[in-house]
Amino acid sequence: MTSPENAGKTATRHVRCPQCGGDAEWSPANPFRPFCSARCKQIDLGAWASEQYRVPASQPDEQRSFESTSPFSSRE
Ligand SMILES: [Zn+2]
Repeated sequence: MTSPENAGKTATRHVRCPQCGGDAEWSPANPFRPFCSARCKQIDLGAWASEQYRVPASQPDEQRSFESTSPFSSRE
């Protein structure tokens, strides 16, 4: 007998598109995977780029203050 599970193994695998949550085809035929389309991939790349612009570089001051301030010096 043919079970539905066996039939699913040969079918094209689908994943959830991280962008729109829709069905995305996971196969060499879909160059945009894990996205469902070029549009969703573009949107995600754009979000990444703007996110990097918004995040400021780590403050170099942090290391310096850690070095000069010892936990004992704050004691009275
Ligand atoms: Zn999508």
